[in-house]
Amino acid sequence: MSAIINNIEIIKAKSTKINDVDFDNLKFGSVFSDHMLVCNYENGKWQAPKVTPYEPITLDPSAKIFHYGQSIFEGMKAYKDADEKVWLFRPLDNFNRLNISAKRLAIPELPENYFMEGLKALLEVDSDWIPKNEGSSLYIRPFIFASGNGFHASPADAYKFIICTAPSGAYFSGKVKVLIEEKYSRSANGGVGFAKAGGNYAGQFYPTQLAIEKGYQQVIWTDDNTHEYIEEAGAMNIFVRINDTLITGPTSDRILDGITRKSIIQLAEAENIPVEVRKITVKEVVEAAKNGSLKEMFGAGTAAVISPISGFGFKDEDFDLPELEDTYASYLKKRITDIQTNKTEDPFAWRYEVK
Ligand SMILES: *Cc1c(COP(=O)(O)O)cnc(C)c1O
Repeated sequence: MSAIINNIEIIKAKSTKINDVDFDNLKFGSVFSDHMLVCNYENGKWQAPKVTPYEPITLDPSAKIFHYGQSIFEGMKAYKDADEKVWLFRPLDNFNRLNISAKRLAIPELPENYFMEGLKALLEVDSDWIPKNEGSSLYIRPFIFASGNGFHASPADAYKFIICTAPSGAYFSGKVKVLIEEKYSRSANGGVGFAKAGGNYAGQFYPTQLAIEKGYQQVIWTDDNTHEYIEEAGAMNIFVRINDTLITGPTSDRILDGITRKSIIQLAEAENIPVEVRKITVKEVVEAAKNGSLKEMFGAGTAAVISPISGFGFKDEDFDLPELEDTYASYLKKRITDIQTNKTEDPFAWRYEVK
């Protein structure tokens, strides 16, 4: 069966898997909807995208993704409100960041209409997969990788841009205990830390495993040069609250420009929560923990929105954060998710209706 939506060709799956899915018990990113968007870069240009059944892809063993790691991705979510309207959150920011990542990895930049029209066509075809229950959403994973062949260490001549989606339930990660990293680095000046490149994650796994063996769940990345500045929490941006001031580091080559991070900064500014964007030293966080002025720490990213931190380890010493009644973390999370799911006004015009 073939159809056209938004100028995009749709090749429908022969049957749906939706009846096999237990929407009340979804493990994050492990069940995939019936279709995907596929767009190939060949002969020097991005070809028209298509919606196809979700299915395995075949690659040559010499495909450059396997050898030289040209691979980038995005993470976003679609929400369905009580009236069955479908919403995205700041989707053009994801599109723009995908192209920032593409440029850094010498991947050809993607036209905006292929991303936006392709995504909208995919969401229309798989609209039944967007969960409606509280806290649930359809997680969206756009990605590009080098599918062109050859062992020559140079950018590929062919790429695939794909969008897959995965229904996901409320993300109850609980509070995490983190370890401030003093040896390994996630990113470096002049490197690819600001890009959502697959390799950034590969490099994080080993130090994170070491932290887990020591009883922590996540690593707090510090600057590669001195390890004196706090930069990110795992694959999330980090916020620290000292007394009533919320602080996060400035974006750079090393700190990813998260959409959740900048939304939190804008919300805090609009709601008179004192917020500072500046470098944060490990020393001041340790001192604040010791003198009781460190009230909260949390990670910020699309998947969990806000992920509170219960305490941190540094140089063989553990520091616990207080259990507060009213946290910035829970307040800001509710404000953002209410905007995302069309439960409240959207003074920032962040919501984007898919229709
Ligand atoms: C994706 C990501 C974030 C969060 O970005 P959002 O746009 O808020 O999802 C933060 N840090 C790193 C390293 C990331 O890869």
